Amino acid sequence: MHNTQLIAFIRSLYNVTNDNDVVPLHAPLFAGNEKTYLCDCIDSTYVSSVGPYVDKFEHMVAEYTGARYAIATASGTAALHICLKLAGVVPEDEVITQPLTFIATCNAISYCGAHPVFIDVDRDTLGMSPASLREFLRTQTRQSSQTPTERINTTTGRRIAAVLPMHTFGFPCRIDEITQICHEFNLVLVEDAAESLGSTYSGQHTGTFGTLAAFSFNGNKTITSGGGGMIITNDAALAKHAKHLTTTAKLPHAYEFDHDEIAYNYRMPNINAALGCAQLENLDSLLSSKRSIALAYADFFSMHLGPHLMRELPQSHANFWLNAVILPDTVTRDSMLTDLNAAGVMARPIWRLMNQLPMYRECQTADLCNATWLEQRVLNLPSSAIIKSKQP
Ligand SMILES: *Cc1c(COP(=O)(O)O)cnc(C)c1O
Repeated sequence: MHNTQLIAFIRSLYNVTNDNDVVPLHAPLFAGNEKTYLCDCIDSTYVSSVGPYVDKFEHMVAEYTGARYAIATASGTAALHICLKLAGVVPEDEVITQPLTFIATCNAISYCGAHPVFIDVDRDTLGMSPASLREFLRTQTRQSSQTPTERINTTTGRRIAAVLPMHTFGFPCRIDEITQICHEFNLVLVEDAAESLGSTYSGQHTGTFGTLAAFSFNGNKTITSGGGGMIITNDAALAKHAKHLTTTAKLPHAYEFDHDEIAYNYRMPNINAALGCAQLENLDSLLSSKRSIALAYADFFSMHLGPHLMRELPQSHANFWLNAVILPDTVTRDSMLTDLNAAGVMARPIWRLMNQLPMYRECQTADLCNATWLEQRVLNLPSSAIIKSKQP
């Protein structure tokens, strides 16, 4: 396969014919009630921290994912921060996560004053490897002598507070095995489901395996509220506390300002929720478009002996948020990135591994051979959905 063939294919897939126009990596698509709901919001004057769209969006996400409770937040990062706090993560704890992720996963751990520990990913999911998790827990941790239900890292002496896998680019990781291991070792599971709204594993929505999970509705995600996130959980007490912590811990009262703990202004404004509601109404058609785009890439690569296109596991159903290819050893990542971007096709490399960033260089890592191998070889290709607009 020549890069020029791939460029021509992508430009025709997205019908971008003018040489000066670029094919974005992921553009939002507003084809439904977005303008209607936004105008409604403005007309009502309830654009900010209270309003009916916040409740509506929360109900819609709970219903869509099958989670009992959903709590809207100002960003996916804020949602993740609160998930970890509610999971009981306190300063000088450790959270086991994957090095192949977006920085927000680690930032949320740091906001709790805790330290990430990096274990390996699987090559076929790009997500946390259950084998690496089990190996780490077996060989590097022990039962606490004071509190036998707790696991202590034998090297650092710190408590392991939670396990935080991420469903990379919307491809579900082996979340059933990870859930099982967390049960065995009595560890709280929190899912970073920021990228995986619409992705299921064995028919169950990602984010509903853990005690808590976070979604993101940033502008580049599958659906967007302009900016925003959502916490989901099946635990009534955690859900109530999540709402309290994200809304300054204000006690309900007709006029008094009473707050009963240090909390956050992490609420999602009504105007963002209005946008989110309209987007969620169209999620199914977005997902089917994204699946057909993935199929078109798969056809192209099989015809042109191209790189390996990431696929979902047989038992899972991905949202195909971002299509990802794994380059063969014969293709150099940077020459492909340079060619595609020079031709106006926004291709991007996978993130730099978290343990290579200055803030996380000192963190403990397991053997990261898969993550290291993937970092050199994974590229994302333009993946925006294409659907016809209902609006004039
Ligand atoms: C987007 C993203 C987040 C955070 O979402 P924001 O809404 O941008 O704060 C967290 N984790 C992962 C893996 C993400 O991709």
